[in-house]
Amino acid sequence: MEQHVLAYIGLGANVGAPRETLERAVSALSVLPGCALAGVSRLYRTRPVGPVAQGDFLNAVVALRAPAGVTPEDGAMALLLALKALERTMGRVQRERWGPRELDLDLLLFGDAEIHVEREAAARSIDPARVGVQWLDVPHPSAAGRSFVLAPLSELAPELVPPGWAMSVDGARDRAAATEAPDAVTAVGVWDVRAGRWHEVA
Ligand code: ADP
Ligand code: MG
Repeated sequence: MEQHVLAYIGLGANVGAPRETLERAVSALSVLPGCALAGVSRLYRTRPVGPVAQGDFLNAVVALRAPAGVTPEDGAMALLLALKALERTMGRVQRERWGPRELDLDLLLFGDAEIHVEREAAARSIDPARVGVQWLDVPHPSAAGRSFVLAPLSELAPELVPPGWAMSVDGARDRAAATEAPDAVTAVGVWDVRAGRWHEVA
């Protein structure tokens, strides 16, 4: 029988119709081969982070039961390729790094695996399914300090201490929140499992 791990995926969008895009992304994740949806966080409106002036984001985190692969590197890379393919089919256009995007899917955690895969330029695939995948770091390096990841992730896995982290997701969320503006992240939707969409919070 195939082994599975629990993966956590960060979703973000700030171009087009972000809420609809994220709802379609959750649905697409749930039907990836060998995968099953294990949880969906609330939907958050978040202030953009970084050097580029741009509109607010919508962010959420999904827990996905995913095939473990022969090795964690192998399983996580297969999932990353699926995420990148989804970004493209959902209309993501190549732009500047940290800039606006139709859909960003980041592999935050893959079970308890710590993964660092580098690809030399010459070794990069010309397979179109692999374009846009240059390297893979898990846990996602920017997850540990960012409320737009930590707030939704802490709803699904508050006590979890990811590999390489000195504290739980809950602790990291509180620490990040202490350094950010009070309106940096705001919950705006609650996931409705039956409807497959977020309902507005009153
Ligand atoms: P951002 O860092 O703003 O999310 P992109 O979504 O364009 O930027 O991703 C750039 C690269 O990040 C991808 O080509 C991919 O190889 C790499 N990457 C490394 N680790 C991860 C991860 N855990 N999840 C998603 N992408 C990753
Ligand atoms: Mg990304």
